[in-house]
Amino acid sequence: MVLIAVGANLPLGGQAALETCRKVVETLRALPGLHVVAVSHWYESAPVPPSGQPPYVNGVVRATTTLTPDALLAALQQIELDFGRERSVRNAARTLDLDIIAFGALCQDVSHLILPHPRAHERAFVLLPLRDVMPEWVHPATGQMLEALLERVCGQEIRQIQE
Ligand code: AMP
Repeated sequence: MVLIAVGANLPLGGQAALETCRKVVETLRALPGLHVVAVSHWYESAPVPPSGQPPYVNGVVRATTTLTPDALLAALQQIELDFGRERSVRNAARTLDLDIIAFGALCQDVSHLILPHPRAHERAFVLLPLRDVMPEWVHPATGQMLEALLERVCGQEIRQIQE
């Protein structure tokens, strides 16, 4: 089981961030070695840290995979490039951001791929959509349950996009 966070906050060409996110899901469905099991609702959230950037659209995809964690990361980074992301400064606005939130219960701290994602547990824009696809999730490193993590982020500005 892998959990992939999808986020976008810049229009790509004439395409709104929500449309980018939907297309990314279709791209993930077509990725060899990845089998998408569930897709969350989409959410709109204020940028973290706060900035003058447009709001983010966020969601989480639950999948199974035969890929290694490194191969999955490489595939996700290629999709980011294909969707026109330009790597510039940290936390810069971007057309697309794909993160591996968790890869089964794997815990590793290798700088190019930290699992579970080191900031996932403190972000409502990850935890709320994660609940849509896997309410029983337990943080593999700390053993904390999703509901407990959600209580700690309840002040963050986020709303579900009505579809
Ligand atoms: P970002 O700019 O937020 O997309 O961060 C991308 C960088 O974070 C890449 O250089 C990745 O190698 C690294 N990274 C570390 N852990 C993860 C993870 N769990 N998922 C995605 N990228 C990660």
